[in-house]
Amino acid sequence: MGEVRELIIIGGGPAGYTAALYAARGDLRPLVIEGFQWGGQLMITSDVENYPGYPDGVMGPAMMQDFRRQAERFGAEFVSDDVTRVDFSERPFKVYVEDDEYLADAVIVATGASARQLGLESEVALQGRGVSYCATCDASFFRDKDVVVVGGGDSTMEEATFLAKFASKVTIVHRREDFRASQIMLNRARANEKIEFVTNAVVDEVLGVEEGKVTGVRLRDVRSQETWELPTTGLFAAIGHDPNTKLFLDQLEHDAAGYLVTRPGTTETNILGVFAAGDVQDHVYRQAVTAAGSGCMAALDAERYLAAREGHPHAALTAPRPEAEPEPETAQV
Ligand code: NAP
Repeated sequence: MGEVRELIIIGGGPAGYTAALYAARGDLRPLVIEGFQWGGQLMITSDVENYPGYPDGVMGPAMMQDFRRQAERFGAEFVSDDVTRVDFSERPFKVYVEDDEYLADAVIVATGASARQLGLESEVALQGRGVSYCATCDASFFRDKDVVVVGGGDSTMEEATFLAKFASKVTIVHRREDFRASQIMLNRARANEKIEFVTNAVVDEVLGVEEGKVTGVRLRDVRSQETWELPTTGLFAAIGHDPNTKLFLDQLEHDAAGYLVTRPGTTETNILGVFAAGDVQDHVYRQAVTAAGSGCMAALDAERYLAAREGHPHAALTAPRPEAEPEPETAQV
């Protein structure tokens, strides 16, 4: 059996690196298994203007490098590969990267969530160059410009309504006639005179790859198959997010959408010694700053757990859970 570490952090985004920073400064010598494509969702954004402490903005990838470097400075170690399996059924916990086994007394899961993509090559080529997955982050770059938002859910309506504060025109493109969005959100978007709707249509291609920035989209009517081009400077795909929790679903408590459930006010999962931070357990706020905040919480929770465990070697494997609390209403409004 190899070395048993005090703490392994799975995931290299704002939550994972912040947890690593705090844990490293707490002398826990954390190992961060950060993923092959480390950095998380900020690696596909350009300017970040809403992270406190960067008054002139910062590029997403540069910010993630700073986060990583800061954790490294205090002794965090990194494995730039993807975790392929975990076993939280006994202690020490086991985390695998293919055949390599890593052991730890505590684990923080910070694998984040991924915005669903349309699946177009041109979309990938223009990410951060007009293609975005986050209106809160990028809307202000589209002041007095035309933008397209794809989708028909609550996220779509929310993003379109937010974008309309900046853009001159927002066109919602939805693949069906009926909307999945709640009536109140749909009505709000419909009442906004800057928002137009194109239904029964999909984006076949994002235009502008040659120019290096979005210049338009080619749309296709799904009934007639007729195609046409719509000039635009921005394409927001607002078709939902998926938490990156496939590896954990059979071991950690999760909600119907796959988000890990943490005990309210903490980062504790249903397994004592396993914590969750960032977007993997938050489908409401989904911001770098909130992810970083919960990464800090997870490191402090892990530190306290490890300190207490030394005095309680026979602690039960499963943490006692309080009665589930109802979702706050504000999360759904
Ligand atoms: P969602 O409800 O799953 O909606 C996704 C939308 O994107 C659907 O309209 C879907 O079309 C469309 N879509 C999916 N894949 C597509 C593709 N490849 N091409 C084109 N369109 C595609 O996701 P969400 O809007 O992110 O909402 C997730 C949950 O969070 C929901 O429970 C929602 O109520 C909640 N939420 C609440 C609020 C709020 O209350 N403030 C805000 C955001 C989200 P189809 O309808 O045809 O499947």
